[in-house]
Amino acid sequence: MAGDLRCEVCVIGGGIGGIATAWHLARRGVRAVVLEAFTVASGATGRNGGFFIAGVAPAYDESCRLWGRPLAIRRHLATLAAQAEMLGAASQVGARQEFRLTGVLRVAMDADEAVRLRSHHSALLADGFQGSLVGPDALPVALQRPERLGLFTAHDGSVQPARWVRALAEDIQVYEGTRVLEPPTAEGAGVRVETAQGTVLAGYVVVAADGGLSALLPSVHRVRPRRLNMLATGPARPGLLPVPIYARDGYEYAQQLPSGRVTLGGFSDLDGEASWTQAAVVSAPVQDRLTSYLRDELGVFAPVTHRWAGIVGYADDPVPTCGPVPGSDGRILALGGYNGTGHVQAWVAARVAADLVATGTSVDADLYVWPN
Ligand SMILES: Cc1cc2nc3c(=O)[nH]c(=O)nc-3n(C[C@H](O)[C@H](O)[C@H](O)COP(=O)(O)OP(=O)(O)OC[C@H]3O[C@@H](n4cnc5c(N)ncnc54)[C@H](O)[C@@H]3O)c2cc1C
Repeated sequence: MAGDLRCEVCVIGGGIGGIATAWHLARRGVRAVVLEAFTVASGATGRNGGFFIAGVAPAYDESCRLWGRPLAIRRHLATLAAQAEMLGAASQVGARQEFRLTGVLRVAMDADEAVRLRSHHSALLADGFQGSLVGPDALPVALQRPERLGLFTAHDGSVQPARWVRALAEDIQVYEGTRVLEPPTAEGAGVRVETAQGTVLAGYVVVAADGGLSALLPSVHRVRPRRLNMLATGPARPGLLPVPIYARDGYEYAQQLPSGRVTLGGFSDLDGEASWTQAAVVSAPVQDRLTSYLRDELGVFAPVTHRWAGIVGYADDPVPTCGPVPGSDGRILALGGYNGTGHVQAWVAARVAADLVATGTSVDADLYVWPN
C-alpha cells in the first residue's frame, strides 16, 4: 500500500478467514480491500495440517452436551455446507486440484478413547450425519492394535491450503507487507486503520486475524493465541497412510502427500503453558515427541526435512468468535478463535461476517459467539 486510501470494507488478515470474507463480500456486490502484514496464507492458513474436515473442535456428542442438540446440529450442518461451497469456489478459481476428498480416519489410540469415539459416532448417526466405524484390522498397518478403533468420514479430506487460498485471493485487492499498527477506531460514519504505509478510512473493518485477534482488538480477550507444531519428511514408502489420520482426540494429525512426504502435527498439550504465545517458533520438546511418534507409531523413517510452528486462536468455550465489536456501532467485526480447526469454520464465519456487513443481518448471526 502506498499512501492513504478510502474503501467500503477493509479486511485485516490475508488467511482463509480474511480472504474468504472478501470473496463472500464480492458475491454480495461489495468490494473489500485486504491488509496483510506478510503474504497471503503466511499465518496459520499456510502452516496447517491441511485437514479439510467438517465439524467443530469438540467431538459431536460433546458438542450436543455443551450447546444442546439444535445448535450443535446447526454448527455441524454449516461446516458441511461450507465444504460444498469451498469446493465450488475452488473450481471457479482453478484450485479444485488442491483438494483431495479421500475421507479422514479418526483413530482411537486406546480402549478409553474407543469408547469416546463410539459415542461420537452414535451421536452423529442419531442426527443423520455420516461416519462408519473401522475395526482394528482395517486400520493402516502401522496403527493396528487390538484395542484401537477408527471412524471414517467420507466427506472429509485434505487441501494444500496455501495454494488454494492464494488462488482464491487472485481477484481480490490485497496489500501484502502492510501491517496494521494499532486497533482500528470508529470515526464518524466509518473506521480508521493505521498502517506504516498510510491511513485507511473504511465504512466497515473486519478483523480476521485468528491468533492475532486479541493483539489487534484487546477487548476480544476471549480468543487467546496458541502455538501448534508440525514437521514434514522426505518421500516415505507409498501407501503408509492411505488417508489422513486424526488420532488421540485430534491432538495428533498426519497425512501422506501424493509426493510420498508425510506431514505430522500434534502434542500441543506437551507444550503446556509455553504454548500460549504469539511467537511462531518451534518447541524443542514437542518436535522431539513428534519425531519419536513418526518413527515409533507411524513407522516412517524418511528424514525430517521441515519443522515449523503456527499460531492459532483458542477460546475456552470452545466456540469461534464472529460478530460486531461492542461500541463500534456494527462497523468493526471480529472473526477467529477456531481452536485449531479453522479451515472450514473460518469459511462459515466469513460468510456470516459478509452478510452482516452487506445487509446488517444474517440468518446465522447467532451461530458463533459475538465478541464481548
Ligand atoms: C500447525 C497448525 C495445524 C493446523 N491444522 C489444521 C488442519 O489440519 N485443519 C484445519 O481446519 N485447521 C487447522 N489449523 C487451524 C487453521 O489453520 C486456522 O484455524 C485457520 O487457518 C485460521 O485462519 P485465519 O485466516 O483466521 O488466520 P491466519 O491464517 O492466521 O491469518 C491471519 C492473518 O492475519 C495477519 N495479521 C495478523 N496481525 C496483523 C496486523 N496487525 N496487520 C495485518 N495483518 C495481520 C497474519 O499475518 C495472518 O496472515 C491448524 C493451525 C496450525 C497452526
